[in-house]
Amino acid sequence: MELGDSQRWLTELRNRHAALLKQRREVRFRPSCGCNNQKRQDNDHGSARHRRDGGETGYDFGGERDWIENELVGVYTEYVGRACDPDETYQAQIKKLLLVFEYSIPSRILAEVVGCSAGHARRFEWDAEQQIVREKQWSRKQREHQAPPALAKRVRERDDDRCVRCESTEQTVVHHIDPARQDGPAVMENLAVLCNRCHVIAHGGAVNTGEVIHGSTRQFWAWAEPDARWSALNNEQTTFDVFR
Ligand SMILES: [Zn+2]
Ligand SMILES: [Zn+2]
Ligand SMILES: [Zn+2]
Repeated sequence: MELGDSQRWLTELRNRHAALLKQRREVRFRPSCGCNNQKRQDNDHGSARHRRDGGETGYDFGGERDWIENELVGVYTEYVGRACDPDETYQAQIKKLLLVFEYSIPSRILAEVVGCSAGHARRFEWDAEQQIVREKQWSRKQREHQAPPALAKRVRERDDDRCVRCESTEQTVVHHIDPARQDGPAVMENLAVLCNRCHVIAHGGAVNTGEVIHGSTRQFWAWAEPDARWSALNNEQTTFDVFR
C-alpha cells in the first residue's frame, strides 16, 4: 500500500520514537562508570581498582538521559501540532498520543506536551496486552463519583444542603446512593446530600474505593432516615418503586 504524505510523517515520527526509547533503555542499563564491559558484576564497576584501570570515561549519562527526554517531548509536541485541533480536550490529546505511540508516556511529559496538570495526565495508560488506551480504575471511580454540577445543585436545593442523615451542614457532598447507577443518566432519586462524616460511613470508611455499605436504595434510606422515610416506605408499598 502506498502511503500518502499524511501517513509518512506519522510513520517517521513513530520510528524516531521507537529509536529514542531503545536508546533510553540502553542508557539505563549501562554502568555508571561508562565502560562497556557487560560481563562484570554490577558492584565490580564501582570498585577503586576498576576506576583506576580506566572504567571512568567521564561520560555524562545523566546528560544523555535528559537529551533523550527532550527529544521525546519534541516528538510528542510535533504530533500534537499536526494531528490535534487547538481546541481539542486534554483528554482527547492524551488518548491519541498513547494510542499512536503505543506507550504509557510518563505523566510529567504528557503534562508538558498538552499543557494539563500531571494529576490529569496520570489518569490514562496504554494497555499493551489489549492494545487500547484506558482510563485507570481509580480515575474512573473518582470521576464517576461526582454528579454533574447542575444536577448536584438541584439535589442540594432539594435537601436544603443538609446531611439527610444527621442534618449537619458541615462539608456536605452529593452522594450516589447506588454507585452502579452512575453510568446511566443520573437521576435525582439516586442522589442525596451527606455531611463528610456520614459520607465516609456510607462508604464503609474509605470514600475513594467507590464501594458503599448499602446494597439498595431502601437500605440507604433505612440507614439515613430510620424513622421518617423508612417507615413511610414500609407502610406504603406503592411508593417503593419511586426509590428503587
Ligand atoms: Zn565498568
Ligand atoms: Zn451527616
Ligand atoms: Zn458517596
